Amino acid sequence: MALERLFRRKRPSGENRDIPELWTKCEACGAQLYKKEFKENLYVCPKCGHHHRMPVWERVESLADPGTFQETTRLAPLDPLGFVDTKPYAERLQAYQKETGRKDAILGGTCQIGGVPAVLLVMDYAFAGGSMGSVVGEEIARGVEKAAEEGRALVIVAASGGARMQEAALSLMQMAKTVMSLDLLWQKRLPYVSILTDPTTGGVTASFAALADVIFAEPGALIGFAGPRVIRQTIRQELPEGFQRAEFLLKHGMVDRVTDRRRLKGEVVRALRHLHPGVPYAPGV
Ligand SMILES: [Zn+2]
Repeated sequence: MALERLFRRKRPSGENRDIPELWTKCEACGAQLYKKEFKENLYVCPKCGHHHRMPVWERVESLADPGTFQETTRLAPLDPLGFVDTKPYAERLQAYQKETGRKDAILGGTCQIGGVPAVLLVMDYAFAGGSMGSVVGEEIARGVEKAAEEGRALVIVAASGGARMQEAALSLMQMAKTVMSLDLLWQKRLPYVSILTDPTTGGVTASFAALADVIFAEPGALIGFAGPRVIRQTIRQELPEGFQRAEFLLKHGMVDRVTDRRRLKGEVVRALRHLHPGVPYAPGV
């Protein structure tokens, strides 16, 4: 009890109060990082290059041209099954909404990326592990429809633990819906670029995230369907080193590029400008 009180004790007020908050620590190498610089470096450790998870709005800012992003995501989730595990789903949703200030695990809208008109969708791992329920699936399908209608490219930044357990079969149906919607882009030859970040797993990997014209992955990102423990137990074999990491998948042809986040926008722009039918061909761009 005494120990608990110690941790609960109020921080001293005064000018020194905010000093610890100016610094953070790299999850991989433990280096002390000045938060402001760490943010400016897009949450990549300048010492070891480890890519930390990035807040969704900052991800949008890192890809969309300044001042062009207009949010279109607006749907709120329901609890059609009245699902209760250790806690009611409705309560979990409220807690995530309060914590993230977002209705569900996706932020999306229209913007320009390197001057190319685009729909940009970013999954939020901080909201229920970026899990795909009815809202995430529907927002993706609507984003694809908007891109097709308005002649925009599609860029999706994936970060997800997979389908959302609390919506059961309704979650799994989002896989089919998102995949089918992508056909609209293919019909119009509009490009779709997928960016797989840490982690991208389960039903998201197994549906829209792996079906892009160009698939980027961030260094070290965990990308897979089932987790390594489940696979090891099923096939009763040791898994190769680096299994399910971005670099391993690149070597085995599952992703096209592993790109440092600090160079990501440049490479995405290059892909979009090459592939978008509305952008005149310019060699060397
Ligand atoms: Zn580091």
